[in-house]
Amino acid sequence: MGSLLTRLTKIFRGSPLYYERIEGVRFGIHQLDFLSLNLPPICNYHCDFCFIPRASENPTHHTEIHKNSLTMDEYTSLIRDARALGVCHIEISGEGEPDLPLFRPILTHIIRTATVLGIHTTVFVNGSWLDENLLHFLKDTDSSVAVSIKYTDPEKYNRSVGIRDAYRHVERNLETARLALGGYAELKGCHVYRLAINSTILKNNEEDNLRLRRYCEERDIFFHASTLIPRGKTEGATIDRARQDALSRELSMSSIITAASSRDSLGFPVCGTFYYGLGINYDGQVLFDAHADDSLGIIGNVREIGLTEAVRRQQALRDAFYHEGGISYCPLRDIRYPNFINQYGKETQ
Ligand code: SF4
Repeated sequence: MGSLLTRLTKIFRGSPLYYERIEGVRFGIHQLDFLSLNLPPICNYHCDFCFIPRASENPTHHTEIHKNSLTMDEYTSLIRDARALGVCHIEISGEGEPDLPLFRPILTHIIRTATVLGIHTTVFVNGSWLDENLLHFLKDTDSSVAVSIKYTDPEKYNRSVGIRDAYRHVERNLETARLALGGYAELKGCHVYRLAINSTILKNNEEDNLRLRRYCEERDIFFHASTLIPRGKTEGATIDRARQDALSRELSMSSIITAASSRDSLGFPVCGTFYYGLGINYDGQVLFDAHADDSLGIIGNVREIGLTEAVRRQQALRDAFYHEGGISYCPLRDIRYPNFINQYGKETQ
């Protein structure tokens, strides 16, 4: 494993660390720095500890989703408004698989609109649909891609995503992605990557994570291993929190999550896209955090309240979370979170 010094010189383009270290950005000066856009909760995988409902198996749900989704024009206005508030980065990471062919027109529309406005985009994908067309588009728009992979053992991988032969496709697509987006740029003494593999620390993938890290080192791909968000089916899928944190630090080339700008306000680094950003669901519902589907309905819908009010409400809730004792860089990984969100959920009913 690399030394701390080695790790610090490797940065994922689009991470909060990239903006702070390479572009000299200090977050929190503008009203908003990050925007997270969730495309609909539909996925081709059936991961054994996914926390979204199995929407892909429910055709009624599909029709509802289609009816409620933000339109291209609404995305254009939203991204323009976000830019006016200061957003420099858009992340598309959930809740389903944003790279499904079904979503490709909307995905490319978001990225194209953002690029024209000078906003950089990162897409988190499962890797099963990455093809040359999309990869060239991502290259041309200078976007970043993080592929989520937790196992290098094909059998374990296929079993965990519930698809026979899935690993073979991802392995092949990853190689195509490496040819298009792999490598790094040398900027301010750091190696800056725009293709990453993002894993998770689980009970049964320590060896896989070591192999993934080696695979990335040998191919000039960025590697990050996250701790697990403890919810629903995921409880019990991993090891104790302190060991997860230690492994995440050891294995990851650097953090793709935390921003140091919050040291002044909170005294510790926090998740940049949460603390300095806003998550919007596919139907315009504003989220406490991009992955906090249990916060749906608490803040309001951006279609009705507008982006400025959405930011004001989310930041009031965010500040309440830390005022009431939140201590984690990520609220969803904080033991106080379930009580906090239940309490605010009830108050808004
Ligand atoms: S707050 Fe936690 S769950 Fe949300 S985006 Fe950040 S790291 Fe992920």
